[in-house]
Amino acid sequence: MTDLESYTGLDRLTACFREFHRLSLSRYGSYSELYADYLMTGIRLFDMPVGIISRISDDQYHILAVLPDTTGLTVGDKLPLGDTYCSAVISQQTSMAVAHAAKDASFAKHPAYRQMLLEAYLAAPIWVEGEIYGTINFTAPEQRERAFDEVDVELIELMAGRIGQVIEQDQTDRRRQEALSLLRENTELFESAFQYAPIGMALVSVEGRWLRVNNALNKIFGYSDSELLSIDFQQLTHPKDLDLDLAFLGEVLEGKRDSYRMEKRYFHKNGQQIHALLSVSMVRDEAGEAAYFVSQIQDISAQKRAEAELLERQSELQSLNHQLEVLSTTDPLTQLGNRRELDQRLAEELQRSARSGEPLSLLLIDVDHFKRYNDNFGHPAGDLALRSLAIELRKLARANDSAIRQGGEEFMLLLPDTDEAGCHAVAQRLSQVVADIAGLQSAITVSTGGVTWQPKPDTKQAVAADVLLKSADQALYRAKQAGRNRHCQAPLV
Ligand code: GH3
Ligand code: MG
Ligand code: MG
Repeated sequence: MTDLESYTGLDRLTACFREFHRLSLSRYGSYSELYADYLMTGIRLFDMPVGIISRISDDQYHILAVLPDTTGLTVGDKLPLGDTYCSAVISQQTSMAVAHAAKDASFAKHPAYRQMLLEAYLAAPIWVEGEIYGTINFTAPEQRERAFDEVDVELIELMAGRIGQVIEQDQTDRRRQEALSLLRENTELFESAFQYAPIGMALVSVEGRWLRVNNALNKIFGYSDSELLSIDFQQLTHPKDLDLDLAFLGEVLEGKRDSYRMEKRYFHKNGQQIHALLSVSMVRDEAGEAAYFVSQIQDISAQKRAEAELLERQSELQSLNHQLEVLSTTDPLTQLGNRRELDQRLAEELQRSARSGEPLSLLLIDVDHFKRYNDNFGHPAGDLALRSLAIELRKLARANDSAIRQGGEEFMLLLPDTDEAGCHAVAQRLSQVVADIAGLQSAITVSTGGVTWQPKPDTKQAVAADVLLKSADQALYRAKQAGRNRHCQAPLV
């Protein structure tokens, strides 16, 4: 233990150096231990009864440590900075040594002097990271016998400097710890985001080797982590998709693009083909050099299968629709168009005639005394006769004509580009071929009623289908009335 007051000259300097050396080498378990040692040492070396370490912020003087316990001040107390001598340290940003405040022009007027009558004051600012953090200061109620000298001031500045270093080191350590734990947290967060992402993810080297793969990717390909890392993506890629993939990679490496997306096929460990959606982007290092690729691989096999199934269903449905359409316009006994087909064809041909100005004829055909034929030879024989007649009608019809079974033993021929004379000629020919049908139980005859629409040159309006049908019906009626097996042509009604 050294009492500085009892030394002079070199001895005192040596004692100060020893004490400061001891303080500098000491390791403390807490700030309060550190502060207590510095204050105790200061009280002894400077022969000042009271020592305080303060933290100064927002014009407040916070007491971090105070010795001895009998001052009435305690750790945690706050005073307005202006009420303390330390306000001078802050405003002048330097250490202070006042041996006799009553004699000092500025200190004698200081509010602290008026309140506490402290005569001696020795203080130094504690600098932390270029700013004043607080002060270490010593006070005495009496004036000093010996004025403070350079050694006192340098020693307190060294003490303050050392305290500042400890605090700064501590703050740096704490910040580094915080940064490290933030980094660790972020790394862990990224790790689990990568590892447990629902989509397959991989980091791929510039040479094309897997560097890291995640759980989802293992599952997509059926390989374990280590198995997957021992093979490259080329080996898993369908040969037909490899060239495009490599071409894209080449473009990324050459800097022509940053990323690409493609659908491609891979092979599962079990040999099965996988359809995948691949997204690749390049990660570059700080110098802009290619570092690695980040690949995202999404298994879309199920989606592809569903799409293919859907397409198949669609084409099945289309062909069914077509069959249904054919069925709905076809007569099952004769395979001729039915009445529905006639309605459609008649509407179309009326429009066409209206546009082209060409005549359109309709021939209504009814088997004569067909009830009798059925009665005599049976219904199946009647069916056969109807089919035979249908064959003749089809033969007679030109490419654009339509042969129709309108129901029962009634048929029609729709004759585009056919005038009245043409219609008549067709009826005559029909009567001839019907008479010549072979293989019937007995020859049949037909009565026919014809009607022709000749569009007028000045109107593009088509005549109503009903009018045409009704007129043909009346012509047929007249043919029946006139004794059957003949043709009657009707004017339009
Ligand atoms: P008309 O000379 O006045 O036309 O006498 P018709 O006997 O031919 O006329 P009617 O309307 O009295 O009889 C039509 C007959 O056609 C009745 C029916 O037996 C027969 N028939 C209708 N549809 C079919 C069919 O699909 N198959 C068969 N085998 N006969 C049919
Ligand atoms: Mg009839
Ligand atoms: Mg009949």
